[in-house]
Amino acid sequence: MKIQVTQSSMPPLDEYVSEIKSIWDTKWLTNSGEKHNELERKLTQYLDVKYLSLFSNGHMALYSAIKCANLTGEVITTPFTFVSTIHAIVQNGLKPVFCDINPNDYTIDANRIESLITDKTSAIVAVHVYGNACNVEKIEEIAKKYNLKVIYDAAHSFGTEYKGKSIAKYGDISMFSFHATKVFNTIEGGALTYSDPKLYNTFDYFRNFGLVDTDIVSMIGINSKMNEFQAAMGLCNLRHITDEIAKRKKVYERYIENLKNVTGIKLNYYNKDLKPNYAYLPIVVLDEYGMTRDELLKKLADNGIFGRKYFYPLITDLECYNKTFNSNKTPLAKDISNRVMTLPMYANLSLEDVDKICNIIKNKDS
Ligand SMILES: *Cc1c(COP(=O)(O)O)cnc(C)c1O
Repeated sequence: MKIQVTQSSMPPLDEYVSEIKSIWDTKWLTNSGEKHNELERKLTQYLDVKYLSLFSNGHMALYSAIKCANLTGEVITTPFTFVSTIHAIVQNGLKPVFCDINPNDYTIDANRIESLITDKTSAIVAVHVYGNACNVEKIEEIAKKYNLKVIYDAAHSFGTEYKGKSIAKYGDISMFSFHATKVFNTIEGGALTYSDPKLYNTFDYFRNFGLVDTDIVSMIGINSKMNEFQAAMGLCNLRHITDEIAKRKKVYERYIENLKNVTGIKLNYYNKDLKPNYAYLPIVVLDEYGMTRDELLKKLADNGIFGRKYFYPLITDLECYNKTFNSNKTPLAKDISNRVMTLPMYANLSLEDVDKICNIIKNKDS
């Protein structure tokens, strides 16, 4: 039996079939259909935000956020993220300036941001890594002082709250990914949340080629609309989200119970002000463990258990970026990237399987 690092959440088949039935009556498959608009309303409520715009995927949402925020010059960001974050910055013609991370929660080290600001800096693009919240207060303080925009890549953070507030309420714009592997999925999909009312039409036009109506094209847009089948999947999955997160919590607690006293394995403990969504189960393999991350990954794989080096290599070490950037400038991120792996984590992972995985980690000599 194989245990993969994740397994997509899916509603009962009957529920999805009954959700998509009306699409055969309307014959309306995409372009702000009924399902799309209903999902937009429901997510606006669920995430407790003023505005939310759906997109075909998280990457195009982030790309659109950066484009429509009219940023220029340099953007301060983190190298410890999924490539999408940095691609979205570079694809907009902007220069990413990499800030090192806080080794406790793996988010951007807000205390280092100020020293990287120049007269070209226009924004901070920070990532709520593994669903941990960035130091949002400090980031907001810096942004105000230097008049910078703040965009959060909240791809990992669907449904989390920080200090009693939806994580989506922090910053100018937040991006959520609804990719199949995320806590909440629409197969592929994504959304932007924000409070500036002007952005609603901007995003609506931009994601549909810039069309205002059939005769008016107001901007050079793209095509990144969410279709009705994606939205229907979202409507179904949203009905089960509370239960999904509760099941993930049980899995998380079982992992912590099993691994908390293992020498050399650093666990991801949540900030007391965070209401987490238990999106990932990262462990950092320290020297005292006696085996490297890659050796442990292989040992687990030999037992049919597949972890993931997430995030490795560091963005600045990737073939497409390593000639332009130097990963040694962010040594903490580099070190974590060399040691981190995520263990299997999903709502339907059985506690027996968690024990099995943990026993392999605990019994180094077996
Ligand atoms: C998944 C992810 C994205 C991209 O989202 P897609 O929906 O897959 O396009 C961006 N950033 C982070 C941190 C992610 O994990």
